[in-house]
Parts: sequence; C-alpha cells; structure tokens
Amino acid sequence: MSPSPPALPGLPPRATARLKDGVASIVLDVTGLDDPAADALEAEAQAAAQRAPGVREVRVVRTSERTQRRLIAVASGKGGVGKSTLSANLAVALHRTGRPVGLVDADIQGPSQPRLFGVEGIKPEARDNRMIPLDTPAGVPLLSMGMLVPAGQAIAWRGPMLGSALSQLLDGHWGAADPILLDLPPGTGDVQLTMVQKHRPVGAVIVSTPQDLALIDARRAIDLFEKAGVPIIGLVENMAGYTCPNCGSVSDPFGNGGAEDEAARLGIPFLGRIPLAIGIRTASDAGAPPAAGNGAEGAAFGAVAERIDAWLRAHGG
Ligand code: ADP
Repeated sequence: MSPSPPALPGLPPRATARLKDGVASIVLDVTGLDDPAADALEAEAQAAAQRAPGVREVRVVRTSERTQRRLIAVASGKGGVGKSTLSANLAVALHRTGRPVGLVDADIQGPSQPRLFGVEGIKPEARDNRMIPLDTPAGVPLLSMGMLVPAGQAIAWRGPMLGSALSQLLDGHWGAADPILLDLPPGTGDVQLTMVQKHRPVGAVIVSTPQDLALIDARRAIDLFEKAGVPIIGLVENMAGYTCPNCGSVSDPFGNGGAEDEAARLGIPFLGRIPLAIGIRTASDAGAPPAAGNGAEGAAFGAVAERIDAWLRAHGG
C-alpha cells in the first residue's frame, strides 16, 4: 500500500499536522532551539499551512520546549555557607565549558543573584505573559525571585503563592538554556521539599562548610533529596583553608577535610573545595563573579564545574 500524501505539503520536518474542517492543527517540536530559531520555524510552518488548499485557520502548538530542560538544584542545610556564591560561580564556570546554562534564584530568604551578577534593580521584560531571563555580563541568563517584588521588599509569600512564583521563573523564555541551576532557599523544610517534588531536578549539589554543625545540616539536605528521589551529584566544601593575604600561611578556621570525610561516609561524590578567600567576597560584592576570571579562585570553581559537566555527560549529555 502506498503511503497517503501529507495533508499539508511543504511543512518543515519538525511539524506534524492534522487538517479537519478547514482548521490545520500543527504540533511543532522545538526541542533544543533557541527562541528566534523556534519563532522562525513556527513562521515557516504557518506559511506552508496557509498555502495549502482548504485551510482557513492555522493553530500551532509547540512541544518539548520545557520538558527537556534539566534542573540542577544547589542546596545547603542552612544559610551563610556560600550557597548563592557557589550557584553563581558554578553557573559561570559551566558556561565557560560551553554549556548554555541558565540560573534561577529561588532563595526567597535573600535573593542575591542579581547583585552577584551586577544586574540589581533591572526588571526583566515579558513576552506572551512569560518572563524573558536577563542577560548578565557573565553570559548566564538569570531570573530571580527578587525580580518579582519591589527592590528592598521582603518576600512574604507562603505555600501556593511561592510555588507559582517559582513556576513563573522556570516557565520563562529560556530558549536553549540547559541545564538550569536552581539556587534553593537554605534549609530543609517544607518549602524546599515542595519545590523539589514539584520541579524534579535531575540532580542536586550540596554545599557545606567544613564545620561539624554545618555538616549535620548538609546531611539533612542530603536526606531531603533522597526522600524526593533526586540523585545527589555531590558535596562541595566551601570556605575551606584560609590563605593569609599578608604572610601567605594557610590556616583552617572551620576545620579541615570534614566535608570530604563526610561525603565518603555517606557514599556520595566529593566535588571539591573552594577556599575561604577575601577576593571571592569582594568580587562577589562588586557583581563580578570570580569564576569569570583566570585567578586561583576561578580555577577552584572551574574544577567543581568540570565534575558536574562529567556527571551531566554520564546522565544524558
Ligand atoms: P548563602 O547563600 O549560603 O546564605 P552566601 O553565598 O550569601 O551564602 O555567602 C555568605 C557570605 O559569605 C557572602 O558575603 C559571601 O561573599 C561570603 N562567601 C561565600 N563563600 C566565600 C568564600 N569561599 N570565601 C570568602 N567569602 C565567601
């Protein structure tokens, strides 16, 4: 039996179409395309359908655009351990490996990513009721909970409102961005669990300082992801080993090796250590993520990013 001719000739290969009562319904697979490329493809499909005989209306639905994108959660058991600093710099370091990474700042307790990227106070625009991520000077597109409220105002949402705010950020026009790093609020309560269960990251990076107390909190964070069935990519030790800028001696104000030992005990990968360095704080405060530079601090973030890159390659590319 010979195959029946296509109902609508001239459609691009990514389109499948149905024609009924003069209405052409087209499903367009835009997986992996950035917004301009997807828009061009849609225009091509529209034009081809309109040329076909018997068509009086064309409806186009895009698919796969959002389901294929991978989320990586960056979490900590408590605040102040450098989770936001790590999220920003990992995003930049992954961007430098060539991945089209994006960043979503869900840290409602202190949405600091706009400041860390030097775009504080800039409001993102919207198209078709969806937010357009801000282009940052470091090349990482960014949306933050802080962009949904007037500057300086505390975020006082609970439950469903919080959930829909995060969905709004994740449903933005991310184009080909993949993966998206998700800077979670610190802690291991219901807010974090709900975010993780709803948006199902493909993996989680846990950040801790070497202190025992912080490690207990990190263990709670690991439990939370295990409960939600999200694989742990590994543990990062932040604020490890302080190099005195005057005499060059190295000391360990928060202890030494605790996080690496703990990772081994828990059977999860250790992704590396970021030194406690004044340069990291000053560059971060100035809105210039150190991972964008070529100094020693940038290299530390780069080494962690390479392990995450390897994990991603081992888990689907
Ligand atoms: P969290 O997101 O866990 O609350 P932040 O990323 O906001 O923590 O970091 C808390 C403070 O510690 C910030 O002032 C930040 O610049 C500083 N900081 C984070 N990591 C380092 C580091 N490795 N060396 C020096 N200062 C750091």
